[in-house]
Amino acid sequence: MEKGNLDLIDNMYQYVLASSLRESGVLNRLRIETEKDPAAIMQIPPEQGQFMALLVKLIGAKRTIEIGVYTGYSTLCVAQAMPSDSYTIACDVNEEWATIAKRYWKEAEVESKIDLRIAPAIETLKSLLENGQGESYDFVFIDADKENYDNYYELSLKLLRPGGLMVIDNVLLFGAVIDSNLLDDKLKVMLPENSIQAVRDLNSKLKNDNRVDISMLQIADGITLVRKNQT
Ligand code: SAM
Ligand code: CA
Repeated sequence: MEKGNLDLIDNMYQYVLASSLRESGVLNRLRIETEKDPAAIMQIPPEQGQFMALLVKLIGAKRTIEIGVYTGYSTLCVAQAMPSDSYTIACDVNEEWATIAKRYWKEAEVESKIDLRIAPAIETLKSLLENGQGESYDFVFIDADKENYDNYYELSLKLLRPGGLMVIDNVLLFGAVIDSNLLDDKLKVMLPENSIQAVRDLNSKLKNDNRVDISMLQIADGITLVRKNQT
């Protein structure tokens, strides 16, 4: 699980969880199973999942895209927050992790809302555009390989409807956007310099991108909310 808010001391973080976290039994079991995986740091923390579910409900999202599924925690948060006649396109390249995800989606009875695409996400997003689905999605969550963040951003912007919402994950990269030496040895292996630079570059680009409204938040490992302008 990714670290909580970088500025919160641990007992304040525990207080936030104790006084506000509402995690379904299935989500909790998935999180605990994922914690045993060596790559578990990739999973979003539960309060972020709850926040994303709230966003999805606030905008009444029915067509969503998830770029980077891992064991399926964030996809499950979004799918549980949507009505029965909605769906999410879930993009990943890893079959093994997706097998875990599918087990929990089934248990939560949301598997019919999730269209899993095992392929490089750029290919999947381009195929949606080629099939005439531009400007038709309500919500996109970007959380896959950081080197491709700008590609994911540009393709997602084409797929979002005007007024649609994108959430970009890990925009603070455990502090590495400021100084890559802040990463521990394990994270240094997971996050090579070009991936850190890709996140810095997208952050800089977003600051002045007048196609969108933005808000960068210090929740979890940093997320940026991006709303596509109406015109
Ligand atoms: N959102 C997930 C969650 O909450 O548990 C975590 C996603 S994890 C940070 C990143 C995922 O991106 C991994 O499962 C990895 O297999 C996937 N990935 C990496 N490169 C990819 C690519 N080119 N296309 C699609 N998925 C990719
Ligand atoms: Ca992430």
